[in-house]
Amino acid sequence: MAAQLRLRSALALVTGAGSGIGRAISLRLAKEGALVAASDRNGAAAEETIRLLEGMGGETGTGPGCHAAFQADVAEAGAAQGLIEQIQAYFSRPPSVVVSCAGITRDEFLLRMPEDYWNEVIAINLKGTFLITQAAARALVSSGFGGSIINISSIVGKVGNLGQVNYAASKAGVDGMTRSVARELGRHGIRCNSILPGFIKTPMTEKVPQKVLDQMWQMWWHS
Ligand code: NAD
Repeated sequence: MAAQLRLRSALALVTGAGSGIGRAISLRLAKEGALVAASDRNGAAAEETIRLLEGMGGETGTGPGCHAAFQADVAEAGAAQGLIEQIQAYFSRPPSVVVSCAGITRDEFLLRMPEDYWNEVIAINLKGTFLITQAAARALVSSGFGGSIINISSIVGKVGNLGQVNYAASKAGVDGMTRSVARELGRHGIRCNSILPGFIKTPMTEKVPQKVLDQMWQMWWHS
């Protein structure tokens, strides 16, 4: 039981917390004792995540001792900074655990990919992760407390995938950015790591046709 509450003093921000992996991470963090600030561009989905956390750590109701939902689009200039400020105002401290999970796919083969698919994926997956990382790091450095920043990349960023040149580039970017941030922030007691999940069944992957899934399994199995 003690190991389950190892995050009792942590305040955790999770972006993309309204669905899939972000929601599952929020649940796990709360189970381990953290207070969770669940953020998503879909505010109603973030609120639903908070309802699922009821009874797991935190007090019931609203206030600085309770989990709370926030609405923010991580790709919007100013929104990431605004989100960190809102969280600081609500909980009277910056989040000490920050999980950037917000992400999208806009799949198409290179030869057919429209420029806006490229721009949208880079704006959310890469620039959005940068903006959250920067805003959270600034708040942590000025508070003088250490912390842990965790960016959700993807195995696709390392090995590539058919129809995902934009997504692969964004996730490789997240990984390279994370390694550089870790080098810069270590002296402030802030760790920065990325996670490269393989395929996980979520609303994001429901859109992938079975034929493509079969090819992905083949590729990962043999790589
Ligand atoms: P999902 O679609 O279920 O959840 C993504 C969430 O991000 C949604 O709630 C969505 O509203 C939110 N979001 C999208 N754009 C946003 C924005 N601009 N600002 C704020 N929130 C935004 O997807 P998932 O499968 O849970 O993926 C979560 C993360 O994990 C993504 O970064 C994804 O690239 C990564 N990932 C997923 C898999 C997989 O197989 N599912 C594998 C590797 C990595």
